[in-house]
Amino acid sequence: MKITFIGVGSAFTTPDYYQSNLLLTAPSGRKMLVDCGTDIRFSLREAIPESAMPYEMIDAVYISHLHSDHIGGMEWVAFQTYFNPEQPRPRLYMEEVTMREMWHTSLKGGLGSIEGKRMHLTDYFDCRPAASGGSFIWESTRFTLVRMEHVVTGYRDFYSYGLLMEAADGRQPPIFFTTDTQYRPHLIRDIAQDATLILHDCETSPVKSVVHAHYQDLRELPAEVRARMWLYHYQPNPEIDPEKDGFRGFVSKGQEFHLGGETS
Ligand SMILES: [Zn+2]
Repeated sequence: MKITFIGVGSAFTTPDYYQSNLLLTAPSGRKMLVDCGTDIRFSLREAIPESAMPYEMIDAVYISHLHSDHIGGMEWVAFQTYFNPEQPRPRLYMEEVTMREMWHTSLKGGLGSIEGKRMHLTDYFDCRPAASGGSFIWESTRFTLVRMEHVVTGYRDFYSYGLLMEAADGRQPPIFFTTDTQYRPHLIRDIAQDATLILHDCETSPVKSVVHAHYQDLRELPAEVRARMWLYHYQPNPEIDPEKDGFRGFVSKGQEFHLGGETS
């Protein structure tokens, strides 16, 4: 399975980077989006230039959490596919509580009705809710949802669900994609015992937001963990050389990884 970063930036990024969303391509050619932000019409077009309507290529969508750089393109995908009679409903994989909240707190305002009909999320998507810590299989790849602390309020925390991706036959080591996360060194050290590659959220701004792992903190991880890490979700024009600090590097927009091997 090919993993393409169609964007590598933060919520406030530029078209040179786009928001951090992935396009997965199975050996069959089927495609799954991992997150679908406000940039998606443009980033997807750039990733699939041969198609005038790249949403038609999308078989499935996975959503990690509810910030708009991760769900801001969902109304576009929903309406485009719903009003195209040739297009089957895309599958939608998400943690079950987050899926309900996405509909009731974000999408229902725009998608809740069409002329003459009240609508639900299931009218637009083939919904496949998953439990936190549970997994789903898409195109012979197993995706396990790992709960990551993103915004801690003290009352009702806001999680993002990272993905541990591995071939369903378990014969290749997994790749871990953090999605948006705070710095959690114990968890990452644990995961690094299994995953050969970690694609990690990395903030490079002068002021730490805390809701994203900051480069200065990630630099404190053990060398053997840093040696497995590629960094994304950084601010434009970072004046840092991660390779000097023992990381694999900053992921570039359009860079590809392969489950079971790596290319760029
Ligand atoms: Zn976020």
